[in-house]
Amino acid sequence: MCGIVGVTGLDHAAESAFLGLYALQHRGQEAAGISAAGEDGKTRLYKATGAVADIFDERTLRELKGRVALGHTRYSTAGGAGLQNAQPIVVRYRQGDLALVHNGNITNAQILREELVNEGALFQGTIDSEVMVHLIARSRCPTPEEQITEALSRLQGAFSVIITVGETLFAARDPWGFRPLVLGRKDKGYIVASETCALDLLHAEFLRDIEPGEMIRIRDGEVTALKSAQQHRVAPCIFELVYFARPDSHLFGASVDGARRAFGRELAREQPADADCVFSVPDSSNSAALGYSEESGIPYELGLIRNHYVGRTFIHPTQAGRDFRVRIKYNAVREVLNGKRVVVVDDSLVRGTTSKGLVRLIREAGAREVHLRIGSPPVRFPCFYGIDMPTREELIGAQMSVEELRKHLDVDSLGYLSLEGMTQAVQEFGPFCTACFSGDYSAPLVDLERGFNVVSSS
Ligand code: SF4
Repeated sequence: MCGIVGVTGLDHAAESAFLGLYALQHRGQEAAGISAAGEDGKTRLYKATGAVADIFDERTLRELKGRVALGHTRYSTAGGAGLQNAQPIVVRYRQGDLALVHNGNITNAQILREELVNEGALFQGTIDSEVMVHLIARSRCPTPEEQITEALSRLQGAFSVIITVGETLFAARDPWGFRPLVLGRKDKGYIVASETCALDLLHAEFLRDIEPGEMIRIRDGEVTALKSAQQHRVAPCIFELVYFARPDSHLFGASVDGARRAFGRELAREQPADADCVFSVPDSSNSAALGYSEESGIPYELGLIRNHYVGRTFIHPTQAGRDFRVRIKYNAVREVLNGKRVVVVDDSLVRGTTSKGLVRLIREAGAREVHLRIGSPPVRFPCFYGIDMPTREELIGAQMSVEELRKHLDVDSLGYLSLEGMTQAVQEFGPFCTACFSGDYSAPLVDLERGFNVVSSS
C-alpha cells in the first residue's frame, strides 16, 4: 500500500511529483519522498516521515532541480515505519544515479536478500524494494534497460515500480499486474502514477494502463514499450476496486466508482433488506451504498459523518475507553437515524473492531433496526501482494461464521456480497486476484514456503 508517481519532460518536475503525491496520499501516510534528476547528472532527494503536505515546502521543492522526478508515499507495514524504509531509494552505480519507487510486495524478497547478503551486499533498511536496487546494480548486462529487465525477471509477487537512471525513466508492472500503474501526458512531458486521480490533479491526459509484465522507457520525450517479463495468470487486485483506490480513479480499465456501484447493486440483489434508509460508512463505501440504494429503491441518506481531520491522535489512557477511536472518526446523524430501520453499507470487514463501535453509535442515535451489508465477501486470508492485512487469527471473517458475527456485532441482519457476485460485477475488466477472499494465491509465496516471514512491504 503505497502511492508512486514519476514525472518526466516537465520544468520543475518535483513540483508535479509533489502534487501527484498529494492526490495519492490515501495510499500511505507514514512517510513520503521525492527525488529529482538534474541536468548536471545528479539526483537529489528529500524524504521524511509524515503527510505529504507537512513534509515539502517551497524551499525543499525548489532545491529538487530537474525535469525528471519520482515521488513515493509510504504506508507502514511490518517492514517498519522508519525513515530508512522511506522511498525513493537513491544510489550511485556504474551507470550514474539511480532512483527507485515501488508499490507492492515481493514474495521472494527474503530469499533474494539472503543470497545478496551472502555475496557481500549491504542493506540499509528492511524493505523488499532495496533488493531490486541490488539486483540492478549487480547485473552484468550492458544497458540500464537490460539490467532492470534482468533484475525484475528474478522477482515473484507484486511490484509496480518507477526507476530513473539519470534522466531516463522506466516504469514496469509485475507479470500478474497486482498493483495499478497508469501513464498520462501533459504538454511535452509524461506522468506515470499509481492512480489516474494524480493525473487529474496535474491536468494530464490519461493515455493507458501500463500492462501486466510490461516495461516502458521514457527518454527525450519518447515512450518506448519494452516487454520486461513473461506474463503469468493476470490478477490485478480486486481490493483496489473494493476499498483502496480513490473512487474518482480509473484502474485496470474500470472506473472505481462504477465498480463500487456495481458491487452495491449486486449486494442489494443478493442481500435485500426491509428498511427506511440506506447509508454508507464514509468515504470508501459511499459508491457501494449508492448502488445498493439505486437497486433496492431504499432512499440514500447521510447517516454517518466522518471527521476528515483525524491524523495520528494522542488519546489519553483515561479517554481510551470502548469505541473512543471510532467516535473520534465518525459521528451519527441522529435526525436521520432516530426510529428508523437502517441499512448500513460497508465496503469490507477485516478486523470488525470499527464495525462494532459503529453499530453501537448507530443504535445510540436511535436506529430501530440495523442491517449491515458488506460490499465484498468475508476476508478470510492475508494478502502477501502489498495490501497491509492482519494475520488469519485477526481476520474476523476467518474466525466466525456469518451468524456468529451478526451476534458479535449486534446487528439485526448481516449480509455479504458473494465471491461470484463480486467477480461477475466487474468481469469485463477481470480476471482479478481474489486471494484474500478465496485463498487462491496466483503468484508463488516463496518466502513463506521456505519458512520466512513476509515482513517487508512497500
Ligand atoms: S490478496 Fe486481496 S488485497 Fe491482496 S492482491 Fe489479492 S485481492 Fe488484493
